[in-house]
Amino acid sequence: MILTSTLNELREARSGLLNPVGLVPTMGFLHEGHISLVRCAKGENESVVVSIYVNPTQFAPTEDLKAYPRNTERDLALLENEGVDLVWSPSDQDMYPPGFQTWVELERLTKFLEGSYRPEHFRGVATVVSKLFNAVQPQRAYFGQKDAQQAVVITRMTQDLNFPVEVIICPTIREADGLALSSRNSYLNPEERRGAPVLYRALSGAKEAFESGIIDSEELHTHMLEVLENEPLAEVEYVSVADLETLEELDGPITRGLLSMAVRFRTTRLIDNMIVGVDH
Ligand code: AMP
Repeated sequence: MILTSTLNELREARSGLLNPVGLVPTMGFLHEGHISLVRCAKGENESVVVSIYVNPTQFAPTEDLKAYPRNTERDLALLENEGVDLVWSPSDQDMYPPGFQTWVELERLTKFLEGSYRPEHFRGVATVVSKLFNAVQPQRAYFGQKDAQQAVVITRMTQDLNFPVEVIICPTIREADGLALSSRNSYLNPEERRGAPVLYRALSGAKEAFESGIIDSEELHTHMLEVLENEPLAEVEYVSVADLETLEELDGPITRGLLSMAVRFRTTRLIDNMIVGVDH
């Protein structure tokens, strides 16, 4: 496994890789969710590149950039074990050189859901992913359904900017009790951790309701809120039933949709989602 940091190192190592190359962008502190993306990429490509970069521009000043968990040594051991070919851990200096002023922004998709609570977030994500695509030049790139809006945003951006990259979205990996794996789960104290699977219960309850014929978006909404309200530690930020492509809120009866939510446990913000009405 080749380790690179500067852009020149990355470019040189990239030129020696067999195509097709699959890229898995991460912020490190890897878990089975990330590893599932790596395995998916391994299965479909000659070479796999993993980037590890805690991108400062996708965090608001009030968010957890400084506290974001890091463990590079462990990450590298896990990636080595998966047979990853190349790891790129760029510096802030390379990603945002002095005088930086070029951003990638999406007009509408980023206004809803996460974007309405984290207004700058997707500008940071779209910009950094564009830079990763330009530098690594992968044929395929792998993202998790766990971050549903990010998946839609990156798919749209890749088409809009004509990146010659196939974007592949992989399923959400969960703990045995349903909690979606996330680096941020490490912030939860034991009591909060016990409460955290309520997101999964709310989503899977609504999905079951949908499958049993309750297709009114208001009812699905209420269903999710009722489950969340039973968990005293959970503070709901939003609960949504949205269009799968435009991410706009739906009302009335639906045939398919994205159920999603953001819930705070004290200072830890958890998100999760499920798709209804589409076979996987
Ligand atoms: P992050 O390091 O949190 O930026 O995540 C890197 C990639 O892993 C993103 O594409 C995430 O959507 C994906 N990911 C994070 N958690 C999970 C999970 N539980 N299951 C599947 N993919 C995930």
